[in-house]
Amino acid sequence: MPHMNILSFFFITVLSFFIYICYLYSLNNDHLNNYSQWVSILLGILSGPLFIFYYWSYIRCSLQNPGYVTDIWRANAEENNIRIECRKIRNYAPNVYTVCDKCDFMVRPERAHHCSICNKCILKMDHHCPWLGTCVGEKNMKFFFLFLFYGFLITLYITLSITPTFIQSFKRNEADLPQKRYYYATLFLTFCVGITSCILLLFMNCTYIYYISHNITVIEISYKDKNPYDLGIYENWKMVFGEFNWRWFVPLTPKHLLQTVYLLPLNGNYSNINVVDLEDSFLVDNDQHGSVDEEV
Ligand SMILES: [Zn+2]
Ligand SMILES: [Zn+2]
Repeated sequence: MPHMNILSFFFITVLSFFIYICYLYSLNNDHLNNYSQWVSILLGILSGPLFIFYYWSYIRCSLQNPGYVTDIWRANAEENNIRIECRKIRNYAPNVYTVCDKCDFMVRPERAHHCSICNKCILKMDHHCPWLGTCVGEKNMKFFFLFLFYGFLITLYITLSITPTFIQSFKRNEADLPQKRYYYATLFLTFCVGITSCILLLFMNCTYIYYISHNITVIEISYKDKNPYDLGIYENWKMVFGEFNWRWFVPLTPKHLLQTVYLLPLNGNYSNINVVDLEDSFLVDNDQHGSVDEEV
């Protein structure tokens, strides 16, 4: 695991398993529960696949190379007659490669950016995720989205199924009994973490559904020009997930993916765009502007 932060990985793993175990404990605790034994067991069993898919997506996203730029791109540019700019571009610049001064002047394709935490350039970089301890880029975007998606589903499931027990616990008003405080604390923690994560993940899901549907990254959201990579909703989803089939919902490597080769496909309206405004879009002096490009 050379490219991931072990501490982040450990933290999320422990937190996820701890809350899930607290949930199963609260669900099957005789003092707390208002479900019958069979309903409790059934709810516990049904939560299993959601948790497995959530954690599986998390593992895949963390372990997957997000798309580190290698030194193949200079030869690729020369072979295909692609222009290489030695300055940073802060706008859409289709069919133009740039050079990274922090990666020993390595040539990188359009949409690649340097991450100062990973200290590498990432293809179609979205952002550096501290919870994953790695960047989210072209090669792990599918797993990142599934992590958000199943994270939302499992926290929604936990919140909805624990709410009746949570409400019931107030009615019983037994929390003052010393031996039961521990049970109620577990229930309270599960409910609070569940509902908070659920709301946060709902917001994240909506954001990334919008980004993927428009083929846009967090970095590109500030660009002023029309997005030349926006090919329509389904085509945009295919660029991350491949052709629609059952694999969309499983954290397996997508097949037949249309990824960065040397030119990304552009929409038909692209010719109307003023792609590169030399005054506004290039940063000549890196020191003056810090490393905004790198950290999102
Ligand atoms: Zn770089
Ligand atoms: Zn990074």
